[in-house]
Amino acid sequence: MLILDGKIASAAIKELLKNEVDEIIKNGKRVPHLAAILVGNNGASETYVASKVKNCAEIGFESTLLRLDENISEEVLLQKIEDLNNNAFVDGILVQLPLPKQINEQKIIEAIHPSKDVDGFHPISAGKLVQGLPTFIPATPYGILLMFEYFNIETKGKHAVVIGRSNIVGRPMSILLSSNTKHGNCTVTICHSQTKNLKEICLQADILVAALGRPGFVKADMVKEGAVVIDVGITRVEDATSKKGFRIKGDVSFDEVAPKTSAITPVPGGVGLMTIAGLLKNTLHAYKMKNNF
Ligand code: NAD
Repeated sequence: MLILDGKIASAAIKELLKNEVDEIIKNGKRVPHLAAILVGNNGASETYVASKVKNCAEIGFESTLLRLDENISEEVLLQKIEDLNNNAFVDGILVQLPLPKQINEQKIIEAIHPSKDVDGFHPISAGKLVQGLPTFIPATPYGILLMFEYFNIETKGKHAVVIGRSNIVGRPMSILLSSNTKHGNCTVTICHSQTKNLKEICLQADILVAALGRPGFVKADMVKEGAVVIDVGITRVEDATSKKGFRIKGDVSFDEVAPKTSAITPVPGGVGLMTIAGLLKNTLHAYKMKNNF
């Protein structure tokens, strides 16, 4: 059984990105610039954004973190996005989700200019993805493809089962896996909260992607011998024995599932790190498009 170690794979990708940035600097050009907006003080969101900013610094990207008050109006947030859309020195924009109740998330996603949509959530990016056109792939599914690439995971002709149909993970993942591309060409079944016989369907999976946000949901009796299991879930579970008071848990019961698999991602240290690699690659892509590389 192979552990699909996100630390190793993401470090290799970041090394290549850093080399590209070094080359940009050598040529006297400005470096790629990611702008992140964080609204409010959600602990998990703070951690994610801090990690994105830190990773930008590690490979030499510029980044700007705009922290906005929990009670900010939708109008003011839209104006901030418009300012970043018009800022020629900003290549990529991300707004950390979820947003407070007074703000319509879809409106915010659609306000980001598609050429700076490095999260790949804009309907134009999603539409292009469906049609197999070049676009920004949402960072988590992109990170999983990068992981397949790094560890030489064959997907062609396999039956992939994706649990979860969200716009940011499950649905784009199912589309990518079914596409006629190097890390696609699977026969895909997408499952969700209304799926009947989930266990039987999962047992048919050569590749099982769990993205539902229920810690430990996938048990050993749901997994076929030799399957590749990708655990996207990240849930903070209270744990008094941990210094932080919580532990990060994936959607897969790792200890009982791992021995049955041919390859599996750990949580933490798996897909989460690859998501950041995907975001960084999207940001470089946005920069290159703007500068006609
Ligand atoms: P979401 O809540 O938007 O979607 C969850 C999906 O799971 C829904 O489509 C729902 O139908 C399905 N679902 C819920 N209960 C189910 C059940 N009992 N059986 C079958 N399907 C069920 O969540 P999301 O934004 O897609 O995120 C999913 C998980 O992935 C969360 O834990 C989230 O924190 C994590 N996540 C991780 C990363 C990463 O970088 N690793 C990135 C994004 C999200």
